[in-house]
Amino acid sequence: MLDALELSAIPEAAQGLRAPVRTFLDEALAGRVTDRLARSWMGFDAEFSRALAARGWVGMTLPEAYGGGGKDAFLRFVLAEELLCRGAPVSAHWIADRQSGPLILKYGTTRQKDFFLPKICAAEAFFCIGMSEPQSGSDLAGLRTRATLKPDGWVLKGQKLWTTNAHLAHYMIALVRTSGAPEDRHQGLSQVIVDLSLPGITVRTIGDLTGDLHFNEVFFDDVLLPHDALVGEEGAGWAQVTAELAFERSGPERIYGSMVLFDAWLQHLRSGPAASPADVALAGRILAHLVPLREMSVALTAKLAAGHSPVIEAALVKDLGTELEQAIPNLLAEALAADPHIARPEALLRTLSYVLQVCPTFSLRGGTREILRGVIARGLGLR
Ligand SMILES: Cc1cc2nc3c(=O)[nH]c(=O)nc-3n(C[C@H](O)[C@H](O)[C@H](O)COP(=O)(O)OP(=O)(O)OC[C@H]3O[C@@H](n4cnc5c(N)ncnc54)[C@H](O)[C@@H]3O)c2cc1C
Repeated sequence: MLDALELSAIPEAAQGLRAPVRTFLDEALAGRVTDRLARSWMGFDAEFSRALAARGWVGMTLPEAYGGGGKDAFLRFVLAEELLCRGAPVSAHWIADRQSGPLILKYGTTRQKDFFLPKICAAEAFFCIGMSEPQSGSDLAGLRTRATLKPDGWVLKGQKLWTTNAHLAHYMIALVRTSGAPEDRHQGLSQVIVDLSLPGITVRTIGDLTGDLHFNEVFFDDVLLPHDALVGEEGAGWAQVTAELAFERSGPERIYGSMVLFDAWLQHLRSGPAASPADVALAGRILAHLVPLREMSVALTAKLAAGHSPVIEAALVKDLGTELEQAIPNLLAEALAADPHIARPEALLRTLSYVLQVCPTFSLRGGTREILRGVIARGLGLR
């Protein structure tokens, strides 16, 4: 699949990473069924993450001094493409690799960097993101979880919701109120690193439509955090989170959510009698959307590599990317149903069923479509 998309200006040095990653994945993923592969960055496999880390493929953009690869964002882009298009189970280390590590590198104290970054690069510390709350999803600035400064440290009280992997992660980076009231909106918010093994924390898993258990509600009942749990400046949490969301929204994972399914469908077409003209036209239509989207994602990577924080551009690429990710399973379902007399492989149908059920979440996680369009409109000066 990726060979058909080699149109973008990714530096040659980064392209060189593809072959070793493909060789590694051939062995590591051998025998895994397609609907398991389709879970990819929803698939938690700590052993797989550690095998990647052993090859230097976790924390690639973090400095070598912390055990990272010291590489630019293009190498990470190539690695992410290879992993996602093959359906590698990257969920265990993904959040730390993508955003918690870069956040700690940018805003953390020397002690925080020395402690957390080597563990992230070794896939020994997995992170989750504590932003959403029961009354504050889109309206994130209205959150109510509060950390109060006491002589012994910060006392954390409140609740987070929809926290992916909180039941399996070691740490959460939570956005909390440290001063003022919810009405103060962006003022008085801060980010804290929460060790999820501390007393006073209850994690309850919530099943999704497919039956998978990945997100949670997390309760903080007067949890005592050390003073240095604070990341960055007290009260500057909103600006930090906005920069973090550029990392969260810009990556290729906002394009390739249905790629294992698309690939399985193409393989099915190739393995049977000649594909129908309608199927060929559909494959072309999907690729025609995919190629420019990938170009945009590469352009965003260039901005990240140059040290910019492309918040508005990332919102645009995520919005367009998730639209395609959601369209693919629906288009393929129609194509596969067009002739009920043709036998379809069970693995393909199982994969289609999974992606059809999970795809509504693509435009919710990381900020909903409506919220992203508001960000884009504001960025264009239209709001
Ligand atoms: C698979 C998945 C994983 C997630 N993982 C995490 C995680 O790890 N950490 C975390 O913190 N959160 C996570 N979330 C939560 C996610 O960020 C929120 O679901 C999302 O921000 C929407 O918030 P909400 O669910 O409260 O919906 P609401 O904010 O109540 O929105 C409901 C609907 O109203 C629309 N809407 C709301 N406000 C406006 C407005 N001003 N203008 C126009 N339309 C509006 C929304 O677009 C949406 O369609 C995850 C969600 C999913 C689906």
